Amino acid sequence: MKFRNFPQVPFVCYGRGSLNQIGEILEPHRKGDAPFIFFIDNFFNGNQEFISRFPLKGRDEIVFVDVNPHEPSTWQVDALRDDIVKKYGTASGIIGVGGGSVMDIAKAVALMLTNPGSAADYQGWDLVKVPGVFHMAVPTLSGTGAEVSRTAVLIGPEKKLGLNSDFTPMNQVLLDPELIHNVPKNQRFFTGMDNYIHCVESLNGTYLNAFSKAYGQKAEEMCLKAFLGTDEWTEECDDDLMMASWMGGMSIAYSQVGAAHAMSYGLAVVFGVRHGEGCCIAFNQLGEIYPEGVANFHKMIEKWDIDLPKGVCANATEEQMQTMIKVAQGMVPLWENCLGKDWQKIMTPEKMRSLFEKM
Ligand code: NAD
Ligand code: ZN
Repeated sequence: MKFRNFPQVPFVCYGRGSLNQIGEILEPHRKGDAPFIFFIDNFFNGNQEFISRFPLKGRDEIVFVDVNPHEPSTWQVDALRDDIVKKYGTASGIIGVGGGSVMDIAKAVALMLTNPGSAADYQGWDLVKVPGVFHMAVPTLSGTGAEVSRTAVLIGPEKKLGLNSDFTPMNQVLLDPELIHNVPKNQRFFTGMDNYIHCVESLNGTYLNAFSKAYGQKAEEMCLKAFLGTDEWTEECDDDLMMASWMGGMSIAYSQVGAAHAMSYGLAVVFGVRHGEGCCIAFNQLGEIYPEGVANFHKMIEKWDIDLPKGVCANATEEQMQTMIKVAQGMVPLWENCLGKDWQKIMTPEKMRSLFEKM
């Protein structure tokens, strides 16, 4: 038995209005005249009130990062890195302000400023050999757990796979629940359900242990409280969801996700379905594996009146179906966690096809 030994985020600042402290948090990390680069989700472009809260000094720069229509890719990361190198040589640090996509881009660019080549060369496990520059997250969406995780998920020329390494986790995170208050209902739901599904898959997996259980149970409780406990979305819901995202991420760090995530990767590769939405579409059909989790999910969909895309695979060609099955089946640890070592006897290609056909 080989036990995982992984780093955690060493510094975290939490609280309503904590964004006001970002300047003093950053200053000790400034290296000469190398600038801090703020990658801010393009959603905030033009929102002067928000933008003016980031204190720029010297050559510091705000770069608006577009994460639509596609999730982050290795070529987007390479291009952002190349721009910084061309303009400044290097950076004192990268601050990712946004959802999982911008946080992952910030991690990856920070690593690619010190590791040679393309981000595509590092998609996998422990391929990154040198620490990146300082990197910090300021989440504006909660659910992915990207703020605590050891990976930066990127679409590459051959695969959608993370840069998983001990150097990937953020050096600093700032959690300000005010920043997630105005997220539109659907986006909040899809990213929030990513968190809920992390918990269900971790808590119902064969890899479960006391470490994962402690975080997973609390995160699941807080997520259910936020989405089922009140009639209107409140500040307390934001507080709960932000911490649930953190703890859900900690839970899967020492266990694994499961069937919905494996199948969502198939939907992402073939149809470009985004992470949270893809997990929801898949999870919706997995009542046999996660009966209680899916029953609660249906309650939450109904309560928030969410339109889950239907018939995504209705017109899939045979080739597309084969690709989805191949991609999903390739996620071996996820299936092992979900169904045990003999998962292939249960989740046969035919079974998987019948599930995809319903999505
Ligand atoms: P996202 O970052 O992809 O953003 C979704 C949309 O919300 C975008 O259009 C964005 O512009 C917008 N947005 C961001 N902040 C907003 C706000 N405050 N109000 C309104 N809109 C806002 O969404 P996500 O669900 O947070 O992240 C999904 C990404 O995270 C995927 O790329 C996935 O692969 C990745 N992910 C990473 C990990 C990890 O551990 N690294 C885990 C899960 C998912
Ligand atoms: Zn997820």
